[in-house]
Amino acid sequence: MNRDYHVIILGSGPAGFSCAMQSSKFEKKALIVEANERYLGGSWINTGTVPSKALRETANNIFKHATLLGDEDHKKPYERFKMRDVLRYKDSVLASENSEIKDNIIKNGIDTEIGYGKIIDKHTVKITKANGEEKTYTTDYILISTGTRPLDPSAFEIDHTTILDNRSILDLHYIPKRLVIIGTNVQAIEFATIFSALGTNVSILSREEDYLLFLDKELKAEVQSILDSMRVKFFNRVQVKKVGPNPVRNCTEILFENNDDQKLHVIETEQVLYFGARKPNSEKIGLENVQISSNDEGYIEVDRRYQTNVPNIYAAGDVIGHPGLASVSFSQGRIASCHMFGIPTTEIDSVIPYGIYSIPEIASIGLTEEEARQQGYKISIGRSHYKNLTKANIAKNKKGLLKLVFETETLRLLGVHIVGESACELIHIGQAVLRYQGDIRYFLDNVHNYPTYSEAYRIAAFNGVNQVHQSGITYDKLLS
Ligand SMILES: Cc1cc2nc3c(=O)[nH]c(=O)nc-3n(C[C@H](O)[C@H](O)[C@H](O)COP(=O)(O)OP(=O)(O)OC[C@H]3O[C@@H](n4cnc5c(N)ncnc54)[C@H](O)[C@@H]3O)c2cc1C
Repeated sequence: MNRDYHVIILGSGPAGFSCAMQSSKFEKKALIVEANERYLGGSWINTGTVPSKALRETANNIFKHATLLGDEDHKKPYERFKMRDVLRYKDSVLASENSEIKDNIIKNGIDTEIGYGKIIDKHTVKITKANGEEKTYTTDYILISTGTRPLDPSAFEIDHTTILDNRSILDLHYIPKRLVIIGTNVQAIEFATIFSALGTNVSILSREEDYLLFLDKELKAEVQSILDSMRVKFFNRVQVKKVGPNPVRNCTEILFENNDDQKLHVIETEQVLYFGARKPNSEKIGLENVQISSNDEGYIEVDRRYQTNVPNIYAAGDVIGHPGLASVSFSQGRIASCHMFGIPTTEIDSVIPYGIYSIPEIASIGLTEEEARQQGYKISIGRSHYKNLTKANIAKNKKGLLKLVFETETLRLLGVHIVGESACELIHIGQAVLRYQGDIRYFLDNVHNYPTYSEAYRIAAFNGVNQVHQSGITYDKLLS
């Protein structure tokens, strides 16, 4: 049967974009439907990944400038740099990323429709435009990649002026002297260090026991000492009761209860940034018309090829839940396309790298020391502190740690955990060794460029091997 398209994709984020690109390479006719009238690219390009990283880039450069060349006249970054320059830089990055997406879509012959897409039946999608105009297309396959949206807090309202979320913080036109972040997810930590690097006094309020609990404990302690040196303050186990203006003191006031002492506390600030839970965009897209299964929270259920319970309808990206990363969404969208059109492909490896774009970066892959011990491995640890790296010394990036977790007997690498400059890039060296089940001799036997941050792998491997040697194993046995 001749339908209008081979695949219609709802949402132009990384999952939708990569599915469209891959399908076009298979010479399939693809249509992307995007509800956002202004931009393609979803939260990846417009409100999430890319803008936050563009802000980080400028903040990190300002921070480095001050670290490298000194604090001219003891001025804070916010006294020397203007937020409008930071925003202008971010906007120029977004503009170029947007046009890059458009160019790719045009070059690859992918059609786009701006409007809200809804599944009418297994092979039909209706698009409703802002002016009410409706269009209907038929298709062999459908990919749902409609992402998630932030949920508003219950105790207070986001006014986008002094109480911001991840979208409105991107337009903050000045560098505040004080910022309170509510929430402790990865993005909260990223923004805490971005503003701290710009000279803002940052406090984080969270109802959780602690933050970044999934990190290796020793790495977490290193992260904590770096955040302490940046004077980021944490208030864990708290319930925020009220957020609002205090006209007398000309500030915004946050009233919170501490779970430990059950007392009410007040913190004053200029700006508040809220990171709460997110909700999948799955309610009004016609799932009920085709009986697609989703869980209690609305995340769409899929198998390992991103196929829903309706065989010609796939779902990928944040709308299917964990891990909610652009990096993973790209691969999911591509795998879905391969499966639709019968092209063999591998599944996403169960061991994926995690990157946190704080200042400095944090990245990890594989087992933490604690997980490896729990799983019964006999392990050793190799460490390299950034302060011992020539490159880190030259660049004055001396805060950081690279930690290797490996099996003592075989030296097989089990995990890599890094905090420090370029951690999110460096982690991929460890990933390659892990993926091919290599051992830490790889780092000893191969020449690394010098001076580089990658040298940390060599130093950590030496450190690890020396630890094993000290436990009584001779070097000839160890390195044979
Ligand atoms: C502040 C922040 C920082 C982040 N940083 C990183 C990072 O550093 N690295 C990383 O890997 N990930 C990061 N993420 C996560 C990343 O942005 C998401 O995982 C990723 O964008 C999800 O991609 P997606 O394909 O699910 O679609 P999304 O990017 O969520 O886009 C979905 C699109 O679907 C559209 N849509 C919704 N409903 C419809 C409909 N019915 N019809 C048509 N279109 C519709 C929406 O308008 C939207 O454009 C960050 C997220 C945030 C919020």
